[in-house]
Amino acid sequence: MTGLPVTYHSGYSIAMPANHPFPMAKFHRLRAHHDATGLTAHLAFHQPDPIAWPDVQRVHSPAYAQAFRDGTTDQRAQRRTGFQWSPELVERTRLEVGGTLLALRLAVTHGLACNAAGGTHHAHAEFGSGYCLLNDLAIAAATVLDDGLARRILMVDLDVHQGDGTAAIFAHDPRVFTFSMHARDNFPARKQASDRDVPLARHVDDDGFMATLADELVALLERLQPDLVIYDAGVDVHYADRLGHLALTDRGLARRDRYVIETCRDRGIATAGVIGGGYDHDLDALAARHAILHREAAGVWFGTSVLD
Ligand SMILES: [Zn+2]
Repeated sequence: MTGLPVTYHSGYSIAMPANHPFPMAKFHRLRAHHDATGLTAHLAFHQPDPIAWPDVQRVHSPAYAQAFRDGTTDQRAQRRTGFQWSPELVERTRLEVGGTLLALRLAVTHGLACNAAGGTHHAHAEFGSGYCLLNDLAIAAATVLDDGLARRILMVDLDVHQGDGTAAIFAHDPRVFTFSMHARDNFPARKQASDRDVPLARHVDDDGFMATLADELVALLERLQPDLVIYDAGVDVHYADRLGHLALTDRGLARRDRYVIETCRDRGIATAGVIGGGYDHDLDALAARHAILHREAAGVWFGTSVLD
């Protein structure tokens, strides 16, 4: 049996100005971590193409897509994204979105797949925000729906921040149900209305998080009967993360990821995972945290534990 399908491109990480707060090198570091730990032997890597502009415009306005492509967004709009525009930034963003689209297609074919990036859920139809330039989750979802590869999608967004861009984009689209469980007192200050929001108080720990998640996820799966789940496995819920307010441990991340993927797999629902947010300055610690998604997904894929 070949390994868990994981989409990755060496172009996910690009050089950034010194001291930029976004840990752009983490995608390379995650890939290196897989080699160092031996997880690579359990994975099958697939290299994505950059997302096509017509696919971008399935969810983003033509005006924003063109301005982002051409670098004509103004300074204020760029500050809101946290990134200075560059042609390299456009290309790596297109690769990341292409990676999520490919992960969805692989998930539809094989039942389970992951991107080694993705989760840019703060990007809205008309603007980027909070380190999110294009909304990979929304673009990929709209593309597979339009292509007839899925009928009803459930977004399971467990990043510590609300999936506000995704919620707004699909507010009036019955094909996509947006579920966001996040820290209440966190970015974005002005929340959007997801189809289901579960705001958490500060310092929720592993057991508290899992108890709430178990109540929510099974009920949603039973009620909605989705044929595809897109899972944002942000690790900024970790107690050591700079931008989270929750208190999950490494073990809690593993329980969470295994639970989501196994619960969907048990019901025969195709599942695509993306790594989501994670902002530790210690890149090795951050890569190890993001690797938990791939390790747990590989465990479900092989029906055993991997690297335990
Ligand atoms: Zn986040």
